[in-house]
Amino acid sequence: MKTHAQVVVIGGGVMGVSLIYHLTQLGWKDVVLVEKNELTAGSTWHAAGLCTHYAHNITIMNLRAHSVKLYQSILEEETGQAVSFHACGALRVTRYQDRLDEFRQVQGIGAFAGFDFHILTPAELQEIYPLARVDDLIGAIYEPLDGHVDPSQATHAMAKGARNRGAEIYRQTRVTGIRQKADRDWLVATDRGEISAQHIVNAAGTWCREIGVMMGVDLPVVPMLHQYIVSDRIDAFAGLDHELPMIRDPDESWYLRMERDGVIIGPYEKQGKPWSIDGVPPEFGMELLDPDIDAIAEIAGHAMERVPAAADGGIKNIVNGPITFTPDANPLIGPAFDLDNAWLLTGSSMGVMEGGGAGKFLAEWMDAGEPPMDALAVDSRRFGGYADRDFRVDKAVECFAAQFGIHYPYEERPAGRKQKVTPGYELLKRHGAVFGSVYGFERPNWYSRDPDITASSLSFRRANWFEPVGVECNNLQQNVGLGDLSAFSKFRVSGKDAFRFIDQLGANCAPSPGRIGLTHALTASGGVHSEFSVTSLGENEFYLASAAAAGRQDEDLLRSRARAFEVSVENITDHRGVFGIMGPNAEAMLQQVADHDLSIEAFPWLSARPIRIAGISVDALRVSYVGEAGFELHHDITQQKTLLEHLLKAGEQYNLGFYGAFAMNSMRLEKGYRAWGADLTTERTPLEAGLGYLVKTDARDFIGCEAMLERAQADNHWCMELLEFDAPEFDPFYLHTVFRGNEAIGMVTSGSFGHRLQKTIGLAYFRNQVAPADELTVEILGRKAATRIRAPL
Ligand SMILES: Cc1cc2nc3c(=O)[nH]c(=O)nc-3n(C[C@H](O)[C@H](O)[C@H](O)COP(=O)(O)OP(=O)(O)OC[C@H]3O[C@@H](n4cnc5c(N)ncnc54)[C@H](O)[C@@H]3O)c2cc1C
Repeated sequence: MKTHAQVVVIGGGVMGVSLIYHLTQLGWKDVVLVEKNELTAGSTWHAAGLCTHYAHNITIMNLRAHSVKLYQSILEEETGQAVSFHACGALRVTRYQDRLDEFRQVQGIGAFAGFDFHILTPAELQEIYPLARVDDLIGAIYEPLDGHVDPSQATHAMAKGARNRGAEIYRQTRVTGIRQKADRDWLVATDRGEISAQHIVNAAGTWCREIGVMMGVDLPVVPMLHQYIVSDRIDAFAGLDHELPMIRDPDESWYLRMERDGVIIGPYEKQGKPWSIDGVPPEFGMELLDPDIDAIAEIAGHAMERVPAAADGGIKNIVNGPITFTPDANPLIGPAFDLDNAWLLTGSSMGVMEGGGAGKFLAEWMDAGEPPMDALAVDSRRFGGYADRDFRVDKAVECFAAQFGIHYPYEERPAGRKQKVTPGYELLKRHGAVFGSVYGFERPNWYSRDPDITASSLSFRRANWFEPVGVECNNLQQNVGLGDLSAFSKFRVSGKDAFRFIDQLGANCAPSPGRIGLTHALTASGGVHSEFSVTSLGENEFYLASAAAAGRQDEDLLRSRARAFEVSVENITDHRGVFGIMGPNAEAMLQQVADHDLSIEAFPWLSARPIRIAGISVDALRVSYVGEAGFELHHDITQQKTLLEHLLKAGEQYNLGFYGAFAMNSMRLEKGYRAWGADLTTERTPLEAGLGYLVKTDARDFIGCEAMLERAQADNHWCMELLEFDAPEFDPFYLHTVFRGNEAIGMVTSGSFGHRLQKTIGLAYFRNQVAPADELTVEILGRKAATRIRAPL
């Protein structure tokens, strides 16, 4: 066994093996994988092997698409090893309009990503799947590129490819401990000796929490038990001259596919069972759990009602095994938080369909130091320290039940709530706040004026919050609104080099003392990694606020870049609260209770002052994300409730209302302000995002600058435009394709109704320039609507 390697991958399931296959493809030489048992001995060997393209996110759709490509042809051609890929296609059927809306949304994403999905009528479905009952259905989505694979064969073929390029795989080698040495290399202890490595990767599937503890990370995952039934021979299927597509009824929560001359039926129960929450027994290996037919009988019965022939075979076998679930059912891919050269490739509940692509994605990330596509949906750091035991269990159980749930825009699922409740929460709730959860924080989404309505309705069309959000926007425009912005990630950067550090952090210069700036920290290839609003509190001290969901990514970035400077970085997110006071009355209202002259002359735009509001110290920032004059009041969170009470009192004579995240989204779109995570991602540069006014390149040197400038000169660069849509029926939300004629040339990244403009609006990226005179259409839920470029408010 080697004692040194460039990388040690822990876990020989489909994910880990895919990684070494792709790393060696990229030319990594010294690649080692250790597996405590045999390859595939975790969840991989008993998976049903279904592979799909269906996803609500482009990155995940691409991961899945790459898996299919790999299993369908690439692997077998390269290694000569069969993987038994059945390109049978897939169907999802429905009885409900909302589900059909979801199908159309996924079809729209596919149109842009380059994957064909087809919406079928029941009659068309019947032709493709004659054994299904279709009388009560309203439609289906057909995914012709899908198929199923033998997960063991696919893993072994990838292992062969990796070994052919020099990777070494040590089977029957258990990792027993991991530590980082003083030179920052990792030391991986196994029951067969130690290996030191520059990089380690946790691909331990069901056991990833245990390996995480050895690495020093607490992973928010829970194994959940999933079962499928394998039938005996069924004449109706055995007699077919071709394999029928896999079929799913997401409304009833099952999948069914042909398996030799019978079928496999896989139900997802509403009450899933977590398993070994506090530690998977180390001796657990290739065994399965005892079948529990009672748990799945009812749903399996529904499958047999839909495909009556499936009831004709007896049960040959029931497979019951653990699947790892994260709080949002997406995998954990990327750097482990706060560790150097330690990576995660785990937490996938659909590791076969995602594994091929996920291995490629992480290999490219490790090789280039940045992800090949927007990683937000899979980034291993998207959950913070709030994801404790109860949270991970509640969310895993919820995700299992919602495996086939409809993914509504703006949906807030109920489990794992109130991880972080600010002191103002109860008071805001009394004023009608309807909260959403962002990075564990309860943040008001909108304010209900009807005491009987305390939650958002779910729809792909206008929901119950449409009118109230309009009221919030209008009151803010005419009077003044208070918004709770406390969920921002917040950092204090201080020390001798603080100015130099901030000045080199991103595309914009460091602000001078008392001033505020917005800077984008870039990846090496010029994409937007982070967006920081930076306030200079003095020569050597800066206060940074960034997106709530970016907490760990931003902390990692700041800490790693700070190493070359004499600065300290402190994450103060949970210690500071933020209220926005916005609107034409904001200044007068605050002046009643402030100890400082708030006039524009004394307190100019983009400046910050430490002031007192009703005796409470706050850092007041004259900034606005909503396009009306106002202030942000950043305060000690322990003072929040008292501050809020004073603000509400002071606002009485100024018609103070509230605004939530939905109103803020609508208003920032009217101004054309970009949102991190939706409009700003690592895929596009700030110049492509139209943020040239925030990019200062003269005599400056910052990471990604050169690449950003080069990309601006390239023929195929992107540009972002604000659009106005003739779409009275549907407001855009995210990921809608824009066409010029029949050519898909753009993608809406965020959208809303603009209540001040009384127009439906959205931001979209276009490949190359579009001209204002171009005739454009946008496709939302399968319907095309005219759209045009417009100027911001
Ligand atoms: C019944 C069932 C049906 C499924 N059907 C599908 C499907 O149709 N499609 C789909 O995409 N997914 C399906 N899945 C999910 C899929 O099986 C998993 O998502 C996938 O196999 C996970 O792969 P992995 O490589 O992450 O983990 P694993 O396959 O669990 O691999 C992890 C490996 O790490 C090794 N390991 C653990 N600890 C150590 C240690 N200390 N030292 C060394 N090695 C260690 C283990 O032995 C194991 O081999 C199904 C799962 C179940 C249970």
